[in-house]
Amino acid sequence: MHDIYSHPGWTGVLHGVTGRQWGNMQYPVQQQALAIALGVSPDAFVACEQVHGSAVAVVSRADCGTCIADTDGLISRETGVILTVKTADCIPVFLHDAQKEVVGVLHAGWRSLAAGIVRNGIKAMQQAFGCLITDIQVYIGPHIRPCCFTVSPDVAEQFVMYPAVLNKSSNTITVDLAATAAAQVSASGMQSSQITVCSCCTACDVDNFFSYRRDHDQAGRMLSYIGLANGETD
Ligand SMILES: [Zn+2]
Repeated sequence: MHDIYSHPGWTGVLHGVTGRQWGNMQYPVQQQALAIALGVSPDAFVACEQVHGSAVAVVSRADCGTCIADTDGLISRETGVILTVKTADCIPVFLHDAQKEVVGVLHAGWRSLAAGIVRNGIKAMQQAFGCLITDIQVYIGPHIRPCCFTVSPDVAEQFVMYPAVLNKSSNTITVDLAATAAAQVSASGMQSSQITVCSCCTACDVDNFFSYRRDHDQAGRMLSYIGLANGETD
């Protein structure tokens, strides 16, 4: 099987990010190949429109095979529902509560992060399913790291409430997107041990990842997926 990037400790939940070898996941045929490799039905996939906003939707089996409009995040506690987002530099943020059996995934680019999508995702798990803040774990998948994410002063301005994520040198400004996500995790009351960050940079690593910053309109997309297996209680 081609490379899948995942949280090393989440053995009980189906999740991961496809490496470049899986192909451009914008195409249904590539998603079907992944579904077969994972032993699941591609009909179980739920997508979201990915509008670079901060809305998070609660979804169920009735949403399988659909794309949720005006949304960048999905959460669910039903088995047989596989939540997906597509990325090429943006962060795929995975959420998991092993006690309440709730999963989530967020498409978190700089606009969504500045608008608080990680905070919203955690809040949605608390409000919809009664998740305890101490039970939620967060996995930050492969994304563009500060080595490559230089931004304009206009973009940097959106992160003034997170001064630690900005790094200004004489003629460049970089933003640490994962640190922004981590700041929202921390502000939600979680400990640093509850978040795990993949150190891979999608823009640096040509062999393993697609990158919008590097490849522009030619960039393919990786698929991030998370779901509870069929046959468990829900
Ligand atoms: Zn890099």
